[in-house]
Amino acid sequence: MDIHILQCGSIRVSATVPFGNRIDLRNTARQLMTADKKRVTLPVFTYLIEHPRGLILVDTGWCRDISPDGVYDPKAVADVLPPHLAALFHPTLPAGMAIHEQLAGMGIQPEDLDYVLLTHLDVDHMSGLRHVNKAKHVVLPEYEYYWSCRTVYKTRQPQNLWIQYPMERPFYRGSSLGPNHWVIDLFGDESVQMVNVPGHTEGQAAIVIRNGDRFVLLAADAAFSLRNWREMITPGFGFSRDMQLKSLRWIAEMADDPACVAVLCSHDPEIAPGTIAI
Ligand SMILES: [Zn+2]
Repeated sequence: MDIHILQCGSIRVSATVPFGNRIDLRNTARQLMTADKKRVTLPVFTYLIEHPRGLILVDTGWCRDISPDGVYDPKAVADVLPPHLAALFHPTLPAGMAIHEQLAGMGIQPEDLDYVLLTHLDVDHMSGLRHVNKAKHVVLPEYEYYWSCRTVYKTRQPQNLWIQYPMERPFYRGSSLGPNHWVIDLFGDESVQMVNVPGHTEGQAAIVIRNGDRFVLLAADAAFSLRNWREMITPGFGFSRDMQLKSLRWIAEMADDPACVAVLCSHDPEIAPGTIAI
């Protein structure tokens, strides 16, 4: 199985987003106000898996509309995102990097995709869905969907960007895997499992891709880099630090497993686009 790491743009955020080690409203307010020159640039990764059962895309990155000329364009961003999310992310999507543009470069049309798996509904993972919604299956854990329609997530994950696209919404089920022991086993053979890793959002899924006795863990936003789980520093953006810690402890265990080929985080600046074979 080949796992292609595709970068679909970047974000410029306060350094407290990946390594804040606390979550509170004051911290969030500061993240929104941090001047651009004091921010860090982080990649936004998606993954294309060539699985025997078909082509599987994990997350969708930024949509082209957010950066029509491939540069940071606050006016274009404001047309897509509400002001608080525009202020948080400062997104950029260079020419050729939108998910459908990269797939076209590989000779793949959106309708050729068998699955699009959404780890969660934050805009940097979901806004590109408009480019690939013709995939045969779009899958989102029901638990993420449930909370995204309610409470504070309504402001964090604007419905106008995703509610119109048909999705399959399986429930997590009990498993020995994961910090919460909740898993969606896509094919029932443990080769692709969506594993609930709460903390960043409640329903967020990491993806474990297994081939024989080897696996790759796509950690989504449960961690931003290995520093999070090696030093147990929690990201400063999320909803529960306790749950973030629980998820980080699980990632650390998985990373130490000799069968682990790689742990890939969605915004790790140490990771370069490329292909991992397992
Ligand atoms: Zn993210």
